[in-house]
Amino acid sequence: MESICDQCGASTNLPDVFITKRLSFRRRKKTQCPDCHQKAQISGEFKNLLWIPANLIFGLLLVDLFENAAAGWLLLNLALFQVSLLLTIFPHEMCHALAARWMGYRVFRILIGYGKSLYSGKLFGFRFDLNSVPCGGMVIACPVDGGNFRLKSFLFAASGPFANLLLCVLVIPFIGAENYWNWGEFTTGPVPAKAFLLANLFVLLVNLWPMKVPTPFGDMDSDGRRILEAIFTNNIVRKREILATRYIVEAAEAAEAKKAVLAMEWVNQGLEKFPEEFHLLNWKAVLMLDKDPEKARESFLHLHEQLKDSDPPLQKCFIYNNIAYANYRLDRADLLDEADRYSEQAISLIGWLAPIRSTRGSILTELGRIEEALPLLQSAMNSSETSDGKVSSAGSLCIAEAKRGNIELSRQYYQFVENHDSDHFMLKRCRRELAKAEAKREPAGGEQEQRAITSM
Ligand SMILES: [Zn+2]
Ligand SMILES: [Zn+2]
Repeated sequence: MESICDQCGASTNLPDVFITKRLSFRRRKKTQCPDCHQKAQISGEFKNLLWIPANLIFGLLLVDLFENAAAGWLLLNLALFQVSLLLTIFPHEMCHALAARWMGYRVFRILIGYGKSLYSGKLFGFRFDLNSVPCGGMVIACPVDGGNFRLKSFLFAASGPFANLLLCVLVIPFIGAENYWNWGEFTTGPVPAKAFLLANLFVLLVNLWPMKVPTPFGDMDSDGRRILEAIFTNNIVRKREILATRYIVEAAEAAEAKKAVLAMEWVNQGLEKFPEEFHLLNWKAVLMLDKDPEKARESFLHLHEQLKDSDPPLQKCFIYNNIAYANYRLDRADLLDEADRYSEQAISLIGWLAPIRSTRGSILTELGRIEEALPLLQSAMNSSETSDGKVSSAGSLCIAEAKRGNIELSRQYYQFVENHDSDHFMLKRCRRELAKAEAKREPAGGEQEQRAITSM
């Protein structure tokens, strides 16, 4: 059965991928694609943050108006507790990262918060990303070999909660033994130390509870769940996956930094150890697209042959999309049918993702189905998270607009692509299409449109 996202209109035939929530008070259901759900979760977290200034202001007003009003102090202490919750995140993640480094893990980055990036740089030798809604965090780190695997997994998972335990112990002297169980304090004055202690105890318990935690990054294992896994299970497949992840993330980071040669080195190193690993094979083909799209296409087709029914649907969709994209890169009319088939399959299953929309839009443009292509390309350009993604969509929009005679708009897209990457493979195709459009516009004898395409 097809599900449709109420927010962005994307659809999918995959079961259980879109999230349906019942808005109880309106007795209505709301369906969201994973992307829109993530955005909604982040804005929900942001709205929760607004309770802090609200409690602070109302608390101060009550205390000021009614002199020592119990409710006012309670609100002020609640605000202190909420601020403390935010303050616990950084030491928790930092401790995960320090433990990982001490055990010889490769630590890729420490992430604090969701949403827009506020700061991205180095901190204590770690790559550190701070985002605008600081309500959670994670450390991306992988072991570099399989030695003491379970012990290290245990220590890595336990180190975060350990930071909160340590903070509890450190703050206890500031409370005073006679006040441990004095709950009345919360209504008679500010108790920052106690609020900080309670916040750390709360975070400690929540993290140690073995469960799946829904976060804007997707459902993740709590520290408690990972601790139990390290103690009680000896999952060889999972171990291989984690060890291979190191090479996948190395390659992805190098590719993001536009170091294609380095990325390929990491992929090849990974494949020496894990020759069957899907993501490494897929990365290898993706990295070949620029220099040898023919060979990349062969690799994607080979991966397609290897697909099993039991493989995750997302994995299959990426292969469909990548075959379609390789065909598009090859710019061969005889491969357009195949590209059409595969990109249609991909978009019917995971159409909420910008790269899938971009590929589908590009191929529809090639097929002359411009009216269908435009909304896909525009939404792909708007929602793409990488500048490369935006540029590819802009290139296809340039071609689409040229095909329907909007030469000025087409030129603007051309400029956008050229400004970002003057060597982009799309530019040649854009010029070809613009030249065709200009030849069409120019009447026999040609007086208008003096701006030759070569002058751009
Ligand atoms: Zn959506
Ligand atoms: Zn943790």
